[in-house]
Amino acid sequence: MTARGAARRSLLLWVLAALAAGAPSRGAAAAAFERGVPPQAARPAGGGDAYPHVINVSVDGLRGDVIARLGPGSVPHLYRLRIEGAFTDNARNDPDYTITLPNHACELTSRPVLGPDGHGVTFNSDDGRTLEAVHGSYVAGVFDVAHDHGLATGMYVSKSKFALFERSWNGNEGAPDTTGVDDGRDKIDVYVYQANTAALLDSFIAHMTAAPHGYAFIHLADPDAAGHSYGWESAYYLESIVKVDGLIGRIFDLVEGDARFANATYLVVTADHGGTGTDHADAADSLNYTVPLSVWGPGVPAGADLYWLNPSTRANPGNGKPPYAASPAPIRNSESANLSLDLLGLPGVPGSVIDAAQDCDAILPGGAEALPAVFITSPSSGTSFEYPAGVVIEATADPLCGAIARVEFFADGVALGADSTSPYACIWTEVPLGAYRLTARAVRDDGIAATASVDIEIVSPTAGSAGQSLLRTPRIYPNPFGRRSTIEFSLPETDFVEVAVYDLLGRRVERLFDGSLRGGVHEMTLDASSYAPGIYFLRLRSSAAVVTGKLMIVR
Ligand SMILES: [Zn+2]
Repeated sequence: MTARGAARRSLLLWVLAALAAGAPSRGAAAAAFERGVPPQAARPAGGGDAYPHVINVSVDGLRGDVIARLGPGSVPHLYRLRIEGAFTDNARNDPDYTITLPNHACELTSRPVLGPDGHGVTFNSDDGRTLEAVHGSYVAGVFDVAHDHGLATGMYVSKSKFALFERSWNGNEGAPDTTGVDDGRDKIDVYVYQANTAALLDSFIAHMTAAPHGYAFIHLADPDAAGHSYGWESAYYLESIVKVDGLIGRIFDLVEGDARFANATYLVVTADHGGTGTDHADAADSLNYTVPLSVWGPGVPAGADLYWLNPSTRANPGNGKPPYAASPAPIRNSESANLSLDLLGLPGVPGSVIDAAQDCDAILPGGAEALPAVFITSPSSGTSFEYPAGVVIEATADPLCGAIARVEFFADGVALGADSTSPYACIWTEVPLGAYRLTARAVRDDGIAATASVDIEIVSPTAGSAGQSLLRTPRIYPNPFGRRSTIEFSLPETDFVEVAVYDLLGRRVERLFDGSLRGGVHEMTLDASSYAPGIYFLRLRSSAAVVTGKLMIVR
């Protein structure tokens, strides 16, 4: 681990103008508060930055089963975390407390609430003390480790009681820097309290753009507020999750629209508790103690279940509520501190007990190392080439540790070639008409590999006017669906047609039709009862073209 050269400056303190609803009167909590160090260059910008970023989002009162009920059409970004990342909807919070402040203390320290290792925050409103005063000795958190290793840190919260954390880890109360360059005692470089979560995201994005945090924590209160006011299954609650989904979409936009973050940023998204009726305080109710946990980022296996990734150290608790002594343990929201540090290549939180071995591996079953990061720089996804085409595929690959042995290239799973020197490239000549998924697979010298893909299409040069000669994308309805859906497509003329379903790994799951069909509109029923829920591709091939459509099976 090299020194990361954080340049830290003197502290500034300022209070933002309060929002309309909460103009602060004397003694009342301000609706917005911001303290931090304005633009600082904590990390080298752009290429060569091998260290990833982690954005840790805690959604107050988020229930995973409600995400599933809303579906990908309503909450596409929360679904994206599941489809492209590793996740479980069956994580646990603290077994004794299903309320906000205790669980956030767990998430930030990877400690339980009670017991000698517990942080001791059993209360749910800030009483002005520090974690050290509550626990009896200093309680380190995720910010300690990130900060001490030279990363810039940020905390963006939508409830004023999170001042507990800002106070506990500020320039006076934070512990001395334990390693490398002395970056001072203030563990949270930028702290923003803003009750309006859209404005909170504005602030986060502005700070990240000006001076990226290596580790940032974002707390979004909307579902909890809607749940308490109207109920955890009310329309208002569903609407609040749609709102949160939009905020997470803005985080995706930030990550993908900035070369410093693209393919180098992990999102860790969890919740402090669920809820039922208009409350979540009953620690015996599974709707309160069940929370989701998603991890998304380079190398995280798409669609993987976190329990499947951790077969020896974690066990799905079903509907139960295992104590901390249970082994294997359930996945908990309190993994998030040590999991985030693991993703950053940093050691765990001193004094932590949950995932203290950092063995909750979003990245690899049984392995602590991150996968290599690979990115296709050309062509960009969605590019159309006129037939006849030769396509040059170019990729970058960062081993994160060790060295890249080679980058292999594939079209729809068929090998095109490999390159062992950077910049990695491959030329695919005489590409037939059709839609293709191009994949680059970076293989590290230890044999560990990661892939990245883009979708391209080779179109007829006359496609503009003579589009009728090509197949159109099939219509699939309903989609997403549970068991049965209808596929409708039109064929310009009598032709041989193959209709098949492929999984995300490019394996054919089922061939629905293979034979001759007359020109015109055709309908087929897809019975997917035997398919596991997830994303599939429908592929329609005629003698002239190949078109694909995406199927999403949700149950
Ligand atoms: Zn609440």
